[in-house]
Order: sequence, then structure tokens, then C-alpha cells
Amino acid sequence: MTKQISLDDFSSQLLSQTLSELQRHAQKQRLLRLDVRAGESRLVWRLDEACSYASGNKLFKQALYWKYAEENKSLPLLSFGGAYSNHLYALAAEAQRRSRELIAIVRGLHEGKLNPCLQDLQDMGAHIQFVSRKDYRQKADEGFLHSLVERHGPFIHVPEGGGGLIGAFGAQAIGLVAADLQPQTIVLAAGTGSTAAGVLAGLDLAAQRSLKAGRVPVKKRLLIVPVINLVSSDGEPSLLLDIKCLRTQLAIINEKIEGFKIQASSEAWVEWACVDGFQFGGYGKYPPNLAEWVQEFEKHHGVPLDPIYTAKAMAMADCYQSSKNSLDINCHVPLSGSNDGDVLFIHCGGLQGRRGFNLL
Ligand SMILES: *Cc1c(COP(=O)(O)O)cnc(C)c1O
Repeated sequence: MTKQISLDDFSSQLLSQTLSELQRHAQKQRLLRLDVRAGESRLVWRLDEACSYASGNKLFKQALYWKYAEENKSLPLLSFGGAYSNHLYALAAEAQRRSRELIAIVRGLHEGKLNPCLQDLQDMGAHIQFVSRKDYRQKADEGFLHSLVERHGPFIHVPEGGGGLIGAFGAQAIGLVAADLQPQTIVLAAGTGSTAAGVLAGLDLAAQRSLKAGRVPVKKRLLIVPVINLVSSDGEPSLLLDIKCLRTQLAIINEKIEGFKIQASSEAWVEWACVDGFQFGGYGKYPPNLAEWVQEFEKHHGVPLDPIYTAKAMAMADCYQSSKNSLDINCHVPLSGSNDGDVLFIHCGGLQGRRGFNLL
């Protein structure tokens, strides 16, 4: 049977040490100031440059899996992704660097020449197994995972996207560092939302640490831009529920580690909203109006964007900061206070995925 790694597998000491390491890593990344209009800037935090091979948020989300792998040296890692998966790409690069074996289960039966991303995976030493779209849907089922054990032997299972609580835990480092950066408003793209949940929990933790030290925290606001169309289960979209749930779970873990009470539900220091309407047709869709806008943006500011995540979140940030924009979308952010002031844009990478759109 495959074992699902949980946070209980790690000591409090290892968890807080990992978080500090990741925090130092985040602190080193560049902040680029874009002047968007008189007296107002957008600071682009280039987490995409965090590492030459594995860009952006994946490094933070995968960190604890690698800690686990260090303790279990004989086991290969196995994970799932699409044909242009940023997650698999980052995992394969790190596996190669650490001389570890990676089994990449890729969605869809690809025949003939590999695409550039899959070719890179193979060149980095990953064993690729293609599965039909139908089989791929069972990626979290015990029976299917068992069939993979029978085929490949025991492995460390990294769920698709590397998300969930383990991934969100590492992403807290981004929030901890963002808490000390000047802009009050932060913009971030979301797929599964585990990075967003981690950033929220990191901001919560930073605020509580400040209070504990007798300082009044600066209030922060996270604007989350979902790139997948929201589907409701009984009223509230599941992405929002997932984010809330992970944030609460992280608060409980942080309490244990830090030894003091963390109030995740209180919006006193950290407020957030999901800004819907920037999916541009849905996941992976890249309509001409967006492509044209991105081309202008890149020409003007020299910051490359990926079509799946950062392009859409950047379009939202642009819309949020300017009353007139070329995208013709209503940007409605139902939050208290004004929209004035600088914005921190978290660039999570994904640039290798540009090749899927003939952009490299
Ligand atoms: C994977 C990825 C995301 C989504 O992260 P989630 O934690 O799933 O929300 C966002 N941006 C980029 C560039 C990514 O590669």
C-alpha cells in the first residue's frame, strides 16, 4: 500500500526549520517596481527566479516532500501531471539534482515525438508513464495507486500538484516574508489554492508573532485570482472552501509549533477575496485579447508571464490598479477600504509552460 505522507510524519523542529529555510530563500528574490500610474506602483516579486530550473511556488510546495525523501533514501518518488505540468517539471529537476528516481504519471496517451516539456522530463531522468485520461481521473484512488505499486514497486506518493496541507505548509514562507514587504495588497493566482492558503496562513502567523512581541501588525489583503472556473458545492465554490479549510488546519499546526494561539478566522489583520472573472474562458484557455495584452505588457515592462496563471493574475492586478484598461472586464473587489496604494504581485513562475503556446 502507498502511504499518504502527512504533517504528523515531521517533528515540530523539522517543520519550523524548513519554514525558516524557505523564508530565507524567499527573501533573496528580486522585487521589481513597475510604475503603473502616478504615485502608484506594482511590485513584482520574482519567485519565478527562485531557482534556475524549478520556478516559483513549486519549490515551496515540494520542500517537505524532499525532507521526507531524505529520510527514505531507497524509495523513488511518484507523481502526476499534465503534458506541460510545472509541478512535474520542478519535481524532475530537483530529483535530478539530488540523484533521485522520479516516476512521472502523465495524463493522456501521447504518441510520436515528445513535447518540449516531456522531452525535458525524460532528459532529466524521469521515467514517464502515460495513462489514458480516464485512468488518470483515478489518480487518488487506492486501487489505482496499488496497481502502480505493483508495476513500479513501493514509492513516495506526491499527489498531483504537490498541494494539500504538505504543500500549503511550505507556501507559508511566502506569506511570512510578504508580511514585511511594503504593499498592503497582494495579488496571487490560484489553481488548487494551496499556495494561496499557505500565504494566508503565513500572513496570519506573522501578525500573531508581531502581537506576541508587542507590535501592532500592518493589515494585509490577499486577492486570489482563480484560473479554473469556480464550481459551487452547496453554495460556496469548492476552491474557497479548500482555502479556508487549509488555512484553519495550518493555524492549528502553527499553534503547536509556536506554542501560542493563532486566530485564523479573525479578519482583523488579514483579509482576502477570490476575484472571479479572470479565467478568460477557463483553465488553459488563452484568447487573443489576453495574448495581445500580455505582449504589450511584456514589451513595456520586460517581465515574462505564463499563459495559464501569471498572465491572468497580472491582468487582474492591472485592472485593479487602473480604471481604464484594454481588457474590458469589470474588476469588482468586494472589500473594505479603497483600492489605492501599491500592490505586491507574486510571480509564481510557470514560464516553461509558454512552450505549449509557442511563446518561447
Ligand atoms: C502551480 C502553479 C500555480 C497554482 O498553485 P496552486 O497552489 O495549485 O494554487 C500558480 N502559478 C504557477 C505559475 C504555477 O505553476
